[in-house]
Amino acid sequence: MTARIIDGTAAAEALRNRVAEAAAALSARYGAAPGLAVVLVGENPASQVYVRSKIKHTAAAGLRSVEHLLPMETSEADLLALVAQLNADPEIDGILVQLPLPVQIDADKVIAAIDPAKDVDGFHPVNAGKLATGTGGLVPCTPLGSLKLIKSVRETLAGLDAVVIGRSNIVGKPMAALLLAESCTVTIAHSRTKDVEAVCRRADILVAAVGRPEMVRGDWIKPGAIVIDVGINRVDAPEKGPGKTRLVGDVAFAEAAEVAGWITPVPGGVGPMTIACLLANTVTAACARRGWTAPEL
Ligand code: NDP
Repeated sequence: MTARIIDGTAAAEALRNRVAEAAAALSARYGAAPGLAVVLVGENPASQVYVRSKIKHTAAAGLRSVEHLLPMETSEADLLALVAQLNADPEIDGILVQLPLPVQIDADKVIAAIDPAKDVDGFHPVNAGKLATGTGGLVPCTPLGSLKLIKSVRETLAGLDAVVIGRSNIVGKPMAALLLAESCTVTIAHSRTKDVEAVCRRADILVAAVGRPEMVRGDWIKPGAIVIDVGINRVDAPEKGPGKTRLVGDVAFAEAAEVAGWITPVPGGVGPMTIACLLANTVTAACARRGWTAPEL
């Protein structure tokens, strides 16, 4: 194996510690810790796991978390009314509405209703526009965490060829914008890209955000590349026993690690950084709302 592992669990812990310090300083100065409201509609088991983990880490970092667990049949109007209430609440600095939402609710409408200053997921069109124009704003957590992992192994990215596979608003597009802001030469690949393998082989930095288990093979990777595997896919694992499953990324890890210079594992790579960046965004939002210069997180 040539690749060194980028340890997302350790990086996330370090980031959470910096968040906790900043939260303590904010609490000391303003008498209240930054507040994050987490809204979950329905009983999607994966969402419940994410939300529990977010709430646990929020409290551990010394932030206040307020949960709103709403029934599956909640109407769009009721959810929009809750968002309006949270927008107006001075004790709430960040609002997270867990996706996916039930079919009767238009997720885009809900995202657009969140005050962009409290949009700690960074999905509001105002924040997407600010990222595209390089004018600040809150940045989506998964690409933000991925960039932090890349920069933990290589500080200056200018001039490097970066390939992002996937063009979702949540991961692919903001990831590409962040790498462009670092002066990489960025290519976005997607399901209609011709010869995606050849495109990937050019990449000094390869970010896979597709949702297809182990799609990226070892021979797609440029020797020495930094490989960031955003994918989280649950696959059958008969070797662990009948009915058992395991998590794999979008990259065939064992093969890729034979070629890459650096690689993130799944689990233990981008996943933990996503939650840590949510906490960091909450502190950033709280600082901005109080007119306090946000610390470097
Ligand atoms: P989406 O389904 O929204 O986007 C997937 C993207 O992959 C699309 O742009 C699609 O192209 C592209 N794609 C699909 N098939 C191919 C192919 N054969 N070749 C090239 N590109 C292809 O997914 P997300 O962006 O939301 O998530 C991507 C992955 O990241 C998932 O596994 C998800 O679970 C994971 N994830 C992990 C997070 C974490 O914290 N680690 C957080 C968020 C997501 P097209 O646009 O043409 O359809």
